[in-house]
Amino acid sequence: VLEARETIGGGIRTAELTLPGFAHDVCSGCHPMGALSPYFRVLPLAAHGLSWIHPPASVAHPLDRQPAVLLRRSLDETAAELGATGVPGSTSRALPARSRTRSSRISLAPVRVPRHPFRMARFGLQGLLPATTLFRARFRGQRARALMAGCAAHSILPLERPLTAAVGMIFALTGHVVDWPVAAGGSRAIGDALASYLRHLGGTIETDRPVRSLADVPPARVVLFDTNPGQLADIGERVLPAAYVSRLRRYRYGPGAFKIDWALDGPIPWRDPRCLEASTIHLGGTLDEIAAREAAVWRGEHPERPFVLLVQQSQFDPTRAPAGRHTGYAYCHVPAARPSTRPASSSGRSSASRRASATASSRGTSCARRARAGEPELRRRRDHRRRRRPAAVLRRPVLRLDPYSTPNPRLFLCSRRRRRAAACTACAATSRRRSALRSLKRLPERLEPLG
Ligand SMILES: Cc1cc2nc3c(=O)[nH]c(=O)nc-3n(C[C@H](O)[C@H](O)[C@H](O)COP(=O)(O)OP(=O)(O)OC[C@H]3O[C@@H](n4cnc5c(N)ncnc54)[C@H](O)[C@@H]3O)c2cc1C
Repeated sequence: VLEARETIGGGIRTAELTLPGFAHDVCSGCHPMGALSPYFRVLPLAAHGLSWIHPPASVAHPLDRQPAVLLRRSLDETAAELGATGVPGSTSRALPARSRTRSSRISLAPVRVPRHPFRMARFGLQGLLPATTLFRARFRGQRARALMAGCAAHSILPLERPLTAAVGMIFALTGHVVDWPVAAGGSRAIGDALASYLRHLGGTIETDRPVRSLADVPPARVVLFDTNPGQLADIGERVLPAAYVSRLRRYRYGPGAFKIDWALDGPIPWRDPRCLEASTIHLGGTLDEIAAREAAVWRGEHPERPFVLLVQQSQFDPTRAPAGRHTGYAYCHVPAARPSTRPASSSGRSSASRRASATASSRGTSCARRARAGEPELRRRRDHRRRRRPAAVLRRPVLRLDPYSTPNPRLFLCSRRRRRAAACTACAATSRRRSALRSLKRLPERLEPLG
């Protein structure tokens, strides 16, 4: 493994971003997909130091002038949260427990010919719809619609777009299978456990080793790239067809994220204290409000009160902060190609503080690095229109039967950018491994050096 930075982990690093003794997750903080990943389950990660801490509830969704809605593992307890107008024949309720687990695993896998076509078709037909359409049709009550909209907003897409219902259903479904956990000690524990197991198997990791061309890659039969499509185009230009390279270069990024880390004097003083039971808080109001806020981001606007995702790790993991003190982070989606941090910072903070009082120390980081300053406005807008088509979501960045393969059987593009549907690194790991192993078997014994 070659890692450009001083430390491994990428989005699963944990660092003292605010004050000494406060461990903050740099990007991902909550890992339902990691806990459910079929591949992670076969790795001895617990023996290599990874343990998940499960909160009593996955999500709390505060609403004005009423108690927060909690997504709990129990269907009946969640249904009770939704009130009388909640879940007539909802997707989850229709599935018995075993089937829910299996359905969540199927839906976490990348898009390919499904092994359970009928189950997938039942899920997929509803999932094809925009979240706004399906959730307004399936749920009568504002509380259920808001909860599902918050889950769908993890897609970082306008909720009027096809397939966003699938994202909402998948995230809600995972909450009925596993309470959205945090990693004990910080998300870095996931990377550390993977690294420890890799070394145990004889693998090596070199940090401070940016790969800029194939000459930087040691002799290898296959290479898996955890880079963005543009980087792969630059690195692999010589051994990939020109048309493919040009498609990779045309790949355009959606909105980024603006994140604030907090070192706190105490637990977040939520107006509804039950919010402290959930690892993740969705702050965005009703389905209509969340849909309007996410749509605004895609129009290139900073909404006055954005949809905010907040994680309160130390509530469940005391190792994250000194005794009696706490950590937390919140992020909202921000328009691509407008990496201005001021509006997001102030509006994100105000969204959180409407539901809680002041915080001790905060640090804002613009994760909108995807945003390409200087990109022509016209081109960006054209891309937004293109992405409205469901095919664009599946293509990411180039449509292929084996989603991780490239036209060169020795190169694979395995980063999250490859598939939004895979939702995180962990879920796609099985498929990448299979994809690379299949190719390895087919390759001739003797191969030319790639570089
Ligand atoms: C604010 C925020 C919050 C998030 N919260 C969650 C969450 O709670 N749960 C969740 O599941 N997901 C979450 N995510 C998403 C998650 O962080 C990403 O999906 C995940 O990190 C993507 O993994 P990746 O391996 O594709 O890329 P990365 O995590 O970016 O890893 C890529 C690695 O490759 C290295 N690299 C890249 N190019 C080169 C090169 N040319 N040479 C050498 N090394 C290179 C990088 O330095 C990095 O270490 C969040 C994201 C953000 C921004």
